[in-house]
Amino acid sequence: MSDKKVRVRFAPSPTGGLHLGGVRTVLFNYLFAKKHGGDFVLRIEDTDQSRYVKGAEEYILECLEWCGLKPDESPVTGGKYAPYRQSERKAIYREYAERLVMQGHAYYAFDTPEELDHNRKEIPNFQYGHAYRDTLRNSLTLKQQQVDQLLAAGEPHVIRIKMPENENIHFEDMIRGHVSFDTSQSDDKVLLKADGMPTYHLAVVVDDYLMKITHAFRGEEWLPSAPVHLLLWEYLGWKADMPQWAHLPLILKPDGHGKLSKRDGARLGFPVYAMSWLDEKTGELTPGFRELGFLPEAFLNLLVMLGWNDGTDNEIFTLDELIEKFSIERVNKAGAKFDFEKAKWFNSEWIKRSDAKSLKSDVIKVLTDKGVVVKDEKLLLTVIDLVKERCTLLPDFYHQSSYFFEQPKEYDLASVKPKWTDAKTEFFNAFISMLGNTEASFEPADLEQSFKSLAEEKGIKAGELMLPFRIMLVGGKFGPHVFDIAVLLGKKETIGRIEKALEAFNN
Ligand code: GLU
Repeated sequence: MSDKKVRVRFAPSPTGGLHLGGVRTVLFNYLFAKKHGGDFVLRIEDTDQSRYVKGAEEYILECLEWCGLKPDESPVTGGKYAPYRQSERKAIYREYAERLVMQGHAYYAFDTPEELDHNRKEIPNFQYGHAYRDTLRNSLTLKQQQVDQLLAAGEPHVIRIKMPENENIHFEDMIRGHVSFDTSQSDDKVLLKADGMPTYHLAVVVDDYLMKITHAFRGEEWLPSAPVHLLLWEYLGWKADMPQWAHLPLILKPDGHGKLSKRDGARLGFPVYAMSWLDEKTGELTPGFRELGFLPEAFLNLLVMLGWNDGTDNEIFTLDELIEKFSIERVNKAGAKFDFEKAKWFNSEWIKRSDAKSLKSDVIKVLTDKGVVVKDEKLLLTVIDLVKERCTLLPDFYHQSSYFFEQPKEYDLASVKPKWTDAKTEFFNAFISMLGNTEASFEPADLEQSFKSLAEEKGIKAGELMLPFRIMLVGGKFGPHVFDIAVLLGKKETIGRIEKALEAFNN
């Protein structure tokens, strides 16, 4: 690698929710930058005003914040190469487009949208390119004087690149290796639009150059645009400064057939966006990983494994470990199938590994959203440690821990009643009296011992009493060790719950 400071960028267009593939692109850029002591730039590519969506930029910033992937330079943090919003850089681009016209690599085109529509209808496979450009209204066919007049009169026009015919252009992609294209395949892309805004093709090249970007990692869907970009780097005389490119593999549908889309998520019942996105025009709410209860650490971990591995069987990595181990050359060329069950597995692993303190605020939110009041935060920390192994998504903490803070609202009577006997009622009444004895120890192991001895005394199998006891405390057949639960609830609460449940069981 050269000794230039590494500078990478994530360059989203603010048009709606952020697809998980977009966050993976951020992550790969970020990891590469941090590994090489470089800068990670966020540039907002908002030159297509017709696709502009209110709130989308703020949403992107929030996603990055949630994931903990902080840009070193961005429209909010600013930086040496500001502005970082392309719409605010409008004045910069025309000069370069005109330079290309002067050099003969681009031209003015005055065709109206109606004329172009007409051609598209009349001519099969019409492309504005080498086959037809000589028959259209542009500075290649009109006389110089006419062109000057039209420009002076402010006639609407665009500037198009003049794609060479039958040229082979190629580059070395960091993931895909040697990639080559035949220029004849491509049309003469618009570089500068009638509203004076650059298109993506011009803006991305000019900005990557001006912002001194050294490596550009982007989704594979941008590969077909690469020949246009390569030519622009060359024509503008910047080839030596061109970033090294890596086109990241697609994230595929679970069956491997095609790119994973928002619609697949809706069809198969899993999120595709990082965070929920509300489309204000249609009112449609698309769910996100964050709202479903994924931890950001797990989200990043599952994303990095979509197309990368460290060469071992290891699958769980912290962000710091990833920074140390990541290399773009180890990213696969082939698309990665998305598997939601696997994604959930990553989350459960991360919940298990997280300490109670770091989960606390998320769990409080889950509980309070459901109306559970948590008065004792120390108890909550103990509870989190006790139940976290049973939680896959954050909302699971409601089911797994709410009974520590409020009595069960209902009991799984079907699991108790058929086998309920007076002798069992008698046992629990005796157990209550035993608990009432202030001398008795109230530690899980001792409590279990006394419970079992009492059962033996009464001639009932302890195994037949454990499930009713659990249902008395919890409401259902779930949760950690029942004596751990009783001890955390405390003697008084345990007695109260047994009494209340006995009424329901004997009813
Ligand atoms: N603006 C493009 C996008 O929306 C960026 C592609 C690139 O990184 O070159 O994804």
